[in-house]
Amino acid sequence: MIEFKNVIKKYDNQVVALDDINVKIESGEFVFLVGASGAGKSTFVKMLLKEIDPTSGDVLVNNRNLKSVTKKDVPFYRRKIGMVFQDYRLIPTLNVFENVAFAMRVIDATPKEIRRRVPMVLALVGLSDRSKSFPNELSGGEQQRVSLARAIANNPTLLIADEPTGNLDPETAKDIMRLIMDINKAGTTVLMATHAKDIVDASKRRVIALEKGKIVRDEKKGRYELNA
Ligand code: ADP
Ligand code: ADP
Repeated sequence: MIEFKNVIKKYDNQVVALDDINVKIESGEFVFLVGASGAGKSTFVKMLLKEIDPTSGDVLVNNRNLKSVTKKDVPFYRRKIGMVFQDYRLIPTLNVFENVAFAMRVIDATPKEIRRRVPMVLALVGLSDRSKSFPNELSGGEQQRVSLARAIANNPTLLIADEPTGNLDPETAKDIMRLIMDINKAGTTVLMATHAKDIVDASKRRVIALEKGKIVRDEKKGRYELNA
């Protein structure tokens, strides 16, 4: 599904954000990406989105070398990736239904597909009764559920979550984690960058730890930190 081969990313300011990364993530896996601020997590994620290219090395997604994805092909390539952010990034002027529908219109879904699919994904995240609400009328947890609904609306093969529980209280964070785990169980590969130690330790999932651009740990049922 995902493979990094000798990936180096050196920014223009000479900072080496990824330093010879070699890693494979299989289809259907759930992976936590951890590491201190500046360790290279965002750079790793941006490579997968093809927002940036490696200085050297190769990134493969679904057996396709991202080098072969031209600028023109990038939007098409990203169709199979769902993204969730710490700050939800909903469109404030659109209601819940329209926020999810918007993501589908971008990929030219038909009105019929949208009428069918949006209620389905809103039901999956438990928000059927809020489809007419606007983002500012929702709690943080509800907004994140909308953002998850939007992320899965187009049936992505990969869901990337960047600190998805960062703004949520512990109970709400658990609800969001349950939904992300459900999405993973349904077959979507999940890569989640996080600082949520409790969640990582409780989940017993694969943990890839970055430090100064290098993978310093890669454990099948890992913990947030080394030790214990
Ligand atoms: P976070 O740790 O919350 O992911 P970052 O500090 O990594 O946030 O980065 C926030 C944004 O700023 C990213 O888009 C990143 O590429 C950019 N950025 C981070 N460090 C630098 C830098 N030294 N020079 C220019 N842009 C940077
Ligand atoms: P993280 O997401 O783990 O906080 P980043 O990938 O954002 O880490 O950053 C890794 C390193 O690269 C940091 O030293 C950061 O300052 C640097 N960096 C990130 N983005 C840029 C950028 N656009 N230009 C220059 N340096 C950057």
